[in-house]
Amino acid sequence: MYETLKQKLGERASDAPMERALYSRDLAPVPSLVVESLFRTMPDLVVRPANDDEIADVMRTAHRKSIPVTPRAGGSTVYFNSVPVKGGIVMDLNLIQGVVDLNENAMTVKVRAATTFEALESWLNKHGMACQSMPSSAPVATVGGWLNTMGYGIGSLKYGSLASQVRSIDVVLPDGRKKHLTRVSNPSIRDYGGSDGTLGIVTQIELDVRKQSPMAHYLVHVQDARQTGAVMNALCSRGTLPYHMHFADAPYLHSLGALGYSLGNIADGSLVAVDFEGAESELARAKCSVEDVVGSNADLSLLPEDMADMEWNERFRAIRIKRGGPSLLGAEMTLPTFRLTVYLDDIRESGKRFGFEPLIYGHACPNHHVTVMTVFTADETKTLPYIINLSLVKKIHDAGRRNGGVPYGTGLWNTPYLHRIVEKKELENMRKLKSNVDPSGIMNPGKTYRAPFLFNRPGFAIGNNVLAEVRRLVRIKG
Ligand SMILES: Cc1cc2nc3c(=O)[nH]c(=O)nc-3n(C[C@H](O)[C@H](O)[C@H](O)COP(=O)(O)OP(=O)(O)OC[C@H]3O[C@@H](n4cnc5c(N)ncnc54)[C@H](O)[C@@H]3O)c2cc1C
Repeated sequence: MYETLKQKLGERASDAPMERALYSRDLAPVPSLVVESLFRTMPDLVVRPANDDEIADVMRTAHRKSIPVTPRAGGSTVYFNSVPVKGGIVMDLNLIQGVVDLNENAMTVKVRAATTFEALESWLNKHGMACQSMPSSAPVATVGGWLNTMGYGIGSLKYGSLASQVRSIDVVLPDGRKKHLTRVSNPSIRDYGGSDGTLGIVTQIELDVRKQSPMAHYLVHVQDARQTGAVMNALCSRGTLPYHMHFADAPYLHSLGALGYSLGNIADGSLVAVDFEGAESELARAKCSVEDVVGSNADLSLLPEDMADMEWNERFRAIRIKRGGPSLLGAEMTLPTFRLTVYLDDIRESGKRFGFEPLIYGHACPNHHVTVMTVFTADETKTLPYIINLSLVKKIHDAGRRNGGVPYGTGLWNTPYLHRIVEKKELENMRKLKSNVDPSGIMNPGKTYRAPFLFNRPGFAIGNNVLAEVRRLVRIKG
């Protein structure tokens, strides 16, 4: 079977061990001791189809022989979303690129799925248009990849999740049939949002765009970090909704400072960066709102404009803090903004108890929610301490859970938290849809719908809690 695909695709199909090895990991450094004892992450074949017909042909073949297919585009996720766990085929979609059509009246663009956001934005800007939102991994993240994950990032505060901006998609279903899906079709676009490549290959996306417009950036120093959530809520409630807003706490800023990034020079508290876009009149109103919020609270001060501009210009370097690592471990969660203060208190307490320093960064989402990334530095080259440190990830999730937090994204590594991510009824519906669309379960198996056996509750919870206690008692670091 693999030989047939190799003959058909020529150089665009490879079973060379070195090449396959490149597709057996993502950005998360997980020790091979953990991975190899549980999963088969090495694909048997990597294919790079160049068009929808080739994608359909690969899918038909895989469907006939019940071979797993894992779609992969930018590969910029960290939950093994695009890493196979049962071998089979990895479908590298990076040849499925380019803008197809811009409809300036409808304010939509049709784009091939593996176009990166950076490429799309640069193309749109030449036509006076812009993406409504994009992930902070825009230089490598693709439109199809972001639709298949959670889809919140820069601009989502104003324009919502990527799935809410999509008008239609073209998909190749797991059995090789091609389908055009809309918001009201069955399945619908909504089903594909965050589906982790488990329902087929998205090949083209029709997306809302906005007119490119002037922007204004502000950086607010919050002397008492416990006020961060309240300040973010205030900045959202003054009439002009920001385009984007993010915050970083003092330990995060100090770590950046230690790496030579100037924003780290802030002595205490937290920073809230807030960005507006729109007509000049709207920007003038936004300026008044920010000055109003800052002026009404003695704990707040506005930092110089050039610092705010610099923070915006660095928006695609959110994870540069990793350079202090060598590795980062942590968790990302979405929680109500009004719970941010208690979450910050809670996670600091956990940090003290379990001996790690949480570094916290997050961005505002619609409906007064905030996506919070809590990380700590670790060293993947020290395998045993690193594995024990993984237990702290659950401690971060637990602090989030206690404060109304929901893990952001599923992939493989968050499947133990599925019951926290989706309600029971919703999970049942997702599983029903999956078995209708992909009855033989070949699309990206092992992700999104259930945890692998060894990650099942309560074993996972007990195992991690015991490891965290051992770590605390023996004072393991690193
Ligand atoms: C520095 C950094 C910043 C980040 N910032 C953000 C952020 O702001 N917001 C955010 O949500 N995430 C963020 N991420 C995570 C990640 O970059 C995004 O989720 C990104 O959109 C994934 O796109 P990708 O092309 O890399 O997809 P991949 O990692 O290749 O794939 C992601 C998932 O989608 C599936 N998939 C990919 N393409 C297709 C397709 N065409 N059809 C079907 N399935 C497909 C894969 O199987 C996999 O399950 C960040 C990551 C990094 C490293």
